[in-house]
Amino acid sequence: MITATEFRSLFHNGLVKQNTGLVQLLGLCPLLAISNNVINALSLGLATVLVMAASSGAVSGVRHFVPNEIRIPVFVLIIAALVTVIDLAINAFVHPLYLVLGIFIPLITTNCIVPLRGEQTYLDRFFTTGMTGYPGATHIPDRQPGQQKDFSALIAKAKTCQPPKELETGTITGGFNYRTVLGIADQVVEAVKSGAIKKFVVMAGCDGRMPKRKYFSEVAEKLPSDAVILTAGCAKYRYIKLPLGDINGIPRVLDAGQCNDSYSLAVIALKLKEAFGLDDVNKLPLAFDIAWYEQKAVAVLLALLYLGFKNIRLGPTLPGFLSPNVAKVIIDTFGLQPITDADADVAAIMA
Ligand code: SF4
Repeated sequence: MITATEFRSLFHNGLVKQNTGLVQLLGLCPLLAISNNVINALSLGLATVLVMAASSGAVSGVRHFVPNEIRIPVFVLIIAALVTVIDLAINAFVHPLYLVLGIFIPLITTNCIVPLRGEQTYLDRFFTTGMTGYPGATHIPDRQPGQQKDFSALIAKAKTCQPPKELETGTITGGFNYRTVLGIADQVVEAVKSGAIKKFVVMAGCDGRMPKRKYFSEVAEKLPSDAVILTAGCAKYRYIKLPLGDINGIPRVLDAGQCNDSYSLAVIALKLKEAFGLDDVNKLPLAFDIAWYEQKAVAVLLALLYLGFKNIRLGPTLPGFLSPNVAKVIIDTFGLQPITDADADVAAIMA
């Protein structure tokens, strides 16, 4: 039987000390995104507290009945169900607030750390660094001037873990950061001028489990052999192991790295514009076919629009922030368009 002191301690820890919404605001994208006035911030904070309190109670109630192997998906399902209830309730009872909070209510489910309350079996393998943190997790300290960050604790822990099971085989060629690509700029420009490369297709973005995302594998397969794919982010795992070959030694998939490296793709495009002496990036033999997901892709898309890139294709879903008015402005101004099917889009891209 729990004592009054233990209950008070649990209550205090759950609601205040380990309440991510209160003490680790920087880790929660939704809070950052809508904390532009007190009402919005308090409302989303309250929604987060409700979800945490209810999900911790529900998880505690079922944890003895859930098999160990599926506990994380079950717990995430509980959190997602509660978030959906909150989402629908706000929509039904406080509709003006729902219009402000929008996509950020569902994001409570995922962004950025699902608190480990009620189930802390992997806390010993949980590491944070930089401005992130989590109670009980090992924090990798900041780099000292002139030194590298010390990841030895993480490496030592990883060495004690079971290796992951191999699910598939293949070869991935990476490392095409803008510095590497610009290092072979002469070769690339020559290949474009000679007609060996007809089109660059930026097929970056996020991946997801929806079958519709097979579209990106199909586009990669159907693009003609004189097209080069520029990529960054998780979308590439749909096609990066395909044997697409190279053009005069230049791989047909140039992988700049992770989503944050989309910066490299923009630099490559801007440098190609200079190399060809063009006054507009949209005159380059370059097309965008972006795999959309509501994550960092939001920042990437806005950066591309800011840089003046037009006629970007997006899919398989469209951004949640595209309300009819915003969609009209972006379509009219930037020619943003949804993906259709691989055959039609490849034909339009290569036209
Ligand atoms: S935000 Fe980055 S890491 Fe996350 S799914 Fe998208 S590409 Fe992958």
